Amino acid sequence: MKVLVTGGCGFIGSHAVDRLLQDGHEVIVIDNLSSGNARNLEHHKDNKKLSVHIASITDLEKIESLFNGVDWVFHLAALADIVPSIERPMQYHNSNVNGTICVLEACRKHNVKRIIYSASSSCFGIPDTFPTPETAEIRCQYPYAVTKYLGEEYCMYWEQIYKMNITSMRFFNVYGPRARTAGTYGAVFGVFLAQKLNNKPYTVVGDGKQTRDFTFVTDIVDACVTAAKRNDVSGHVFNVGSGNTYSINKLVGLLGGEITYIPKRPGEPDCTFADTSKISKLLGWKPKVSFEEGVKIMLDNIDYWREAPLWEPHTIAEATKDWFKYLA
Ligand code: UDP
Repeated sequence: MKVLVTGGCGFIGSHAVDRLLQDGHEVIVIDNLSSGNARNLEHHKDNKKLSVHIASITDLEKIESLFNGVDWVFHLAALADIVPSIERPMQYHNSNVNGTICVLEACRKHNVKRIIYSASSSCFGIPDTFPTPETAEIRCQYPYAVTKYLGEEYCMYWEQIYKMNITSMRFFNVYGPRARTAGTYGAVFGVFLAQKLNNKPYTVVGDGKQTRDFTFVTDIVDACVTAAKRNDVSGHVFNVGSGNTYSINKLVGLLGGEITYIPKRPGEPDCTFADTSKISKLLGWKPKVSFEEGVKIMLDNIDYWREAPLWEPHTIAEATKDWFKYLA
């Protein structure tokens, strides 16, 4: 297969590239390096089956011809993180919504056979039901969640109207090596691993009893590949989760070290937990990496976070000012 990966230099994207090359596919990457890093694909630099194009997905004219002859598209390019989405909503809309439409139009023009959209479990906001099924009410809490959900809606409309073969995967708390750490205050693993390297206490939010459906990145990619292979399953939305939910205290226990507590953040759920019965039933997919194994892999790769920003309670308070201001 010829597979195009948008955001292929990013965290999840680079793992998708690893897997697709390993499976013998030809891979084309489009990435504007806004949060991705060319270093994430350095280990493939001599692989003739990979080509990397530095471009923005919002530049339809520039990217469109790259979709010629492509079988599958994994659309993983997006701006992530909550805080900057509150500060710069237009930028998020442009990348995550307009960018998605550009990708859909390029796919339509070139009759791409299969499109996998990376959606986010953040569309559920603070749900009533755990584990949370795909049918739960949409309750976006911040612009990032809205833009990822709108991207999914557009995918589903393109699927209906233009009869394209598209599946949306709602990822739950993805973690793994190369989890983004640059710049903004973001996902917990990047924050905690940098704190561990610097012998600083972990900044645990609230009482640490809140739980997350931490899903290892290779399982996420495996779910996408499984979905891509199934031409007969189009127009569906699937939760992709680990099958369980783990507290921050449990994570700290596995990482080992001291704790300092910081205030609970407004708008964040006490639990994320995917109901994965749909993906299991329709695609026969199940996660493979346990939380304990996943955390061990993170610790084995901890050097990656050496240059990551070190967050401390006062810098977190400063960085999340707008979060508390607008979502409280
Ligand atoms: N978290 C924490 N300390 C931090 C950052 C995050 O205790 O410095 C917790 C946070 O309360 C949440 C979990 O880690 O329960 C995952 O947070 P993240 O921002 O990675 O994901 P999200 O909240 O969007 O699910």
